[in-house]
Amino acid sequence: MDLHKERIGAGQKVGVINLGCARNLVDAQMLLGRLKRQGQRIVAAPEAQTVIVNTCSFIEDARKESIDTILDLIELKKEGKIKKVIVAGCLAQRYGKDLAKEFSAVDAFVGVPSLDRDNNPAQVQLTPKHFAYVKICESCFNVCSFCAIPKIKGKFISRTIESVVKEVKALDAQGVKEINIIGQDITAYGLDIYRQKSLARLLKELAGVIKNIEWIRLLYAFPAHVSDELIEVIAQEPRICKYIDMPLQHISDHILLEQNRNITTEQTIQLIRKIRRAIPHGFVRTTFITGLPGETREDFEELRAFVKDFRFERAGVFVYSKEEGTLAAGMKKQVPEKVKKARLDALMQDQKAVAMEIQQSLVGRHLKVLIEEKENIPSLVHKQEPKASYKTYIGRSEYDAPDVDGVVYVRSEVPLKAGDFIQVMITDAYEYDLAGVVE
Ligand code: SF4
Repeated sequence: MDLHKERIGAGQKVGVINLGCARNLVDAQMLLGRLKRQGQRIVAAPEAQTVIVNTCSFIEDARKESIDTILDLIELKKEGKIKKVIVAGCLAQRYGKDLAKEFSAVDAFVGVPSLDRDNNPAQVQLTPKHFAYVKICESCFNVCSFCAIPKIKGKFISRTIESVVKEVKALDAQGVKEINIIGQDITAYGLDIYRQKSLARLLKELAGVIKNIEWIRLLYAFPAHVSDELIEVIAQEPRICKYIDMPLQHISDHILLEQNRNITTEQTIQLIRKIRRAIPHGFVRTTFITGLPGETREDFEELRAFVKDFRFERAGVFVYSKEEGTLAAGMKKQVPEKVKKARLDALMQDQKAVAMEIQQSLVGRHLKVLIEEKENIPSLVHKQEPKASYKTYIGRSEYDAPDVDGVVYVRSEVPLKAGDFIQVMITDAYEYDLAGVVE
């Protein structure tokens, strides 16, 4: 049953459990938007009669979490607490047929919705009202040897600039303060429809139409596709966050080649230096993979030295996960799990030290913070006992992407609400979080 076209019974109370990344969240918003137009009542999952689990299939751990959630929902259905279970998203897209045989209690398996190039039907926003994700393209041109996403998501597709501008203008009119531009590889945006990388052009268009939106954040840039023009726009446009999320995955020439990343050690180093020169106070967020087949001790030591020398403000590390149907799955010299894990732990230790020093360097600085919520119980991060007149809040600086980075704990005598921007003097720094006061 293709949920996107067929009704699931009139006036159902439908809720979604979204797993995986922000791109999956936008898919869930699109799916709920379609169901709402079909007359379904969209409610929070715990109140729903029909529950959709929007699954992730990126790596083994993600698949396990998806399966566990499906089993929990089947249990609730058996207990009569819910009527229908629908499995959507990447796991259903990839293994729908097999799962249907295994889980007969599931009412429908629906894949990922296709991204409409021109039209962007209204979505049901699942993020807090003050920020939103805007998916500008789907899937990926690249064929990284460890990654199954292009196989799950299909052909690379960019939305037209007109369609994205229309969506962002609507979000701006709703009072959204921050938009997060997403895709699998946003730096390939436009290569299909405009025959050239067009993210810089899109950003200039967006900057020209927004009034309320103060932050445009870029997530998922592909290093080999980051152009000088893009770096220039990020540096010059005040409302683009000085924050670049750009997974590098490794640094040794040997492994970059094995990963099929289309970039060399030297090109990567030149790119980082270019970004640092153009955006001196910018933050770079990245990720690395340890244990790709063939990774030698030397490769790994080169990566450790790189992380220590180039000091990334935000970095995550993953162990290589053997993905069915990928190039790397068929490679010889698979690295033992124990070694992969030991390398991950060592690299995370290196990164922790770097991150802490960088966080410490923010103490005494004033940062613009977007308030997310009021803190019910003042958390212990406020070393200085907040004066009785202080209220405490949780927010993010332009250096904190939603859900993946740290937060800023804020003490303020002026009442604040979600969506407010406020200057905060940073007083305390922690591994990933900061604390500060509104003066
Ligand atoms: S850039 Fe590489 S890792 Fe990212 S989605 Fe595309 S193929 Fe996968």
